[in-house]
Amino acid sequence: MARQYLVGVDIGGTNLKVGLVTPAGEVKAYTTRPTRLDGGWAGVVDQVEELVAALLQQQGLSLTAVGGLGVGVPGTVRLPQGEVLFAPNLKWENVPLLATLSTRLPVPVRLDNDAHVAALGEYWRGAGQGYGSVLLLTLGTGIGTAFLWRGRVFRGRAGLGSEMGHMVIDPAGPLCGCGNRGCLEALAAAPALERLAHRLLAAGLSSRLTCAGNWGVGEVFAAAAAGDEVGQKVVEEMVGHLAVGLANAVVLIDPEVIILGGGISGSADLFLPALSEEVARRVGRMAYPPPTIVPAALGNLAGILGAAYLVRGELGEDE
Ligand SMILES: [Zn+2]
Repeated sequence: MARQYLVGVDIGGTNLKVGLVTPAGEVKAYTTRPTRLDGGWAGVVDQVEELVAALLQQQGLSLTAVGGLGVGVPGTVRLPQGEVLFAPNLKWENVPLLATLSTRLPVPVRLDNDAHVAALGEYWRGAGQGYGSVLLLTLGTGIGTAFLWRGRVFRGRAGLGSEMGHMVIDPAGPLCGCGNRGCLEALAAAPALERLAHRLLAAGLSSRLTCAGNWGVGEVFAAAAAGDEVGQKVVEEMVGHLAVGLANAVVLIDPEVIILGGGISGSADLFLPALSEEVARRVGRMAYPPPTIVPAALGNLAGILGAAYLVRGELGEDE
């Protein structure tokens, strides 16, 4: 039987998604389950194998229809060995994921960091189509980044690529998990925004949120949209920090498009105009054109599509 499909696997700290993708980048079918975290990495490998088998069976197919399996992982991946060096949300360290999956699923397997994979997905079928240089940030619990140059992940010397989440925005700012102070992630990722909202509430700003309430960044954005003082102040601060980071990126690489993905990008309507304006203001005197900043277009499917893109054969993006 012809190998007519690619399989894209998106291993997240919360959900595991597996999709069957055509060579043209259409998701034919996909399935998602809560990631099985209690069995360590071997449990997740089992789960990947089970979900791939179930998806193929549901489509009346077998592994002989699959040309390759691509995997996105929320952590640092050493290539080409395909070792996951560190994935904090999965509590993985030094996991030989590529070698293990290759044994279990006898098709070509490739893996990469989830932000790299999301950027490749957006480049292939989403907001990055047709752009020669793409900077993607995933704004969520953390901040992941990827810079694509002509459809390939720019990896740098160590192969890690860009980590703008740890670009220092304010050297006197809050401590970051990486040991430095004032990283973009420590200022503008979801936990930082929630802490800021709590501080503003404690300082007495008016809000429909309460100090004791069980709310997250989604509720903070919803409050901001409704004109809430705390919500709007949080958005304003986030825009300020993101604008510094993006302006730094523009003066370094001047990407053709900047794509914002991740959970926070769902509220992009709320902050994108102000963010674009502030980045343009910061770089305009140097004659950079106003940057094109857009929300990601693929939502939940970016990881599946980008992972499939890794094994797209002639367009495979690293050697
Ligand atoms: Zn950091």
